[in-house]
Amino acid sequence: MLGNLPAGTQVYDGLRAVNSYLLRNYGRDPRSPSNQEIAVTTETLPAKFKPYTRQTISQARQWQWMPAELQEAVQLVSHVLPFRANEYVLEQLIDWSNIPDDPIYRLVFPHRDMLRAQEYETLRELVLYKKDEAAIAKEVHAIRMRMNPHPAGQMTHNVPRVNDAPLKGLQHKYKETVLFFPSSGQTCHAYCTFCFRWPQFVGMDDMKFDARETGELVSYLKDHKDVTDVLITGGDPLIMNTRSLAQFIEPLLAPELAHIQNIRLGTKSVAYWPQRFVTDKDSDDLMRLFERVVAAGKNLAIMGHYNHAVELRSEIAQRAVKRIVSTGATLRMQGPLIRHINEDPRSWAELWTTGVRLGAIPYYMFVERDTGPSEYFALPLARAHEIFQAAYQMVSGLSRTVRGPSMSAFPGKVVIDGVVSINGEKLFALQFLQARNPDWVRKPFFAKYDPNATWLDHLVPAFGKQKFFFETGGDEHGHRAPPAKVIPISVAAQRAQGGQSCGSTHSAA
Ligand code: SF4
Repeated sequence: MLGNLPAGTQVYDGLRAVNSYLLRNYGRDPRSPSNQEIAVTTETLPAKFKPYTRQTISQARQWQWMPAELQEAVQLVSHVLPFRANEYVLEQLIDWSNIPDDPIYRLVFPHRDMLRAQEYETLRELVLYKKDEAAIAKEVHAIRMRMNPHPAGQMTHNVPRVNDAPLKGLQHKYKETVLFFPSSGQTCHAYCTFCFRWPQFVGMDDMKFDARETGELVSYLKDHKDVTDVLITGGDPLIMNTRSLAQFIEPLLAPELAHIQNIRLGTKSVAYWPQRFVTDKDSDDLMRLFERVVAAGKNLAIMGHYNHAVELRSEIAQRAVKRIVSTGATLRMQGPLIRHINEDPRSWAELWTTGVRLGAIPYYMFVERDTGPSEYFALPLARAHEIFQAAYQMVSGLSRTVRGPSMSAFPGKVVIDGVVSINGEKLFALQFLQARNPDWVRKPFFAKYDPNATWLDHLVPAFGKQKFFFETGGDEHGHRAPPAKVIPISVAAQRAQGGQSCGSTHSAA
């Protein structure tokens, strides 16, 4: 069927599928005079990143392909949960014949079930009929607060202090790793509907934290020789042009920071806008920047946020991986397990396998966090374990660098190792992969099996114990004196984590 097309030509299957969808539903294709197969060459791929948002999505031709009820849901729910699409995602990643169930459609566009039924109806009344901006803003704020954003005061939990003053835009949760949030990287190529960092994008300024320059970071690092890793995160630092990004990275190459061995960049661009590494006008400059970091003796680790195998099927996404690794940088693949988007273990297996073939390293499958529309996206831990297990069994040893399913919880990263039976009791076997207290790492512990639990704070210790080992000792609140800092798991504490960009996704340390 493709045999007569010239080399370098890609058949736009999605568009063909849409034709059939429209024909099925409307009996005609309203976009074109004919329903002929349409082919595009790689030269016709979008050349410049142009985000579509609630205000501009109607300009995208795909908007006409959405049934009215989906358009309405997008327009209404995006008051609460903003979205960002771009031409590449609309053209290459979404299968429009399968909306609204297509995984990338679900990832990109808000859906009515992301709000509670009453919330949706109230918003609908306000937006479509009353058109009262103040009332809309009030309702939107109330829904967002119900969705567990990071309360401002609690965001300070991991923020380092010098002379008792907090360093804005820095977090230091684990001994060896400092997170840095450059101000111009606090937006993203995507606004994933499940994003853990969504307060960063919705103008909840008191819940945002960022840094305008690297001066304080460098001073802090000079005084903390035990820090080996700096994670530059957001949002997405690769939303910056190369010159701006270099201003944040190059100070880290100074000889007095020789103890900084690893510089990590958390990004969704590898999946959502791979042009950043291949055809953007400063993509070659970006590759030269990566090479300079490597030549300076650092390990540059790109922490790529991937959600689905389709994100690594296109030619340009594969070229992006190859270009990144050709600079000497490494690319690690990570992402959360999300209901409606990537519950199929075959998708994970394909993603990891393709990534390994191209030179990337499977790194983390995260458990979706307790924030935003988590009622819509969360999967029980037991199911998450089954999916990880099934995917893991499908791949060779080279892909088994991946860890998961892992919760980026307040005390640290907790992985579900399995479901076991001890003395007739069904249990989750767990361990810390990373922890506030390094002594906790790789220490197995057990929780009662609960088929409905979706997060660490839902779990109960096994063997009749009242507390997990990392909650015991110390004062009546479960706290101990440093360095063996013990923090109780509680919903409030979970909310306080604020440790990583997309804590469960692309930038996790
Ligand atoms: S999950 Fe990551 S890629 Fe998605 S919007 Fe949040 S910061 Fe951006």
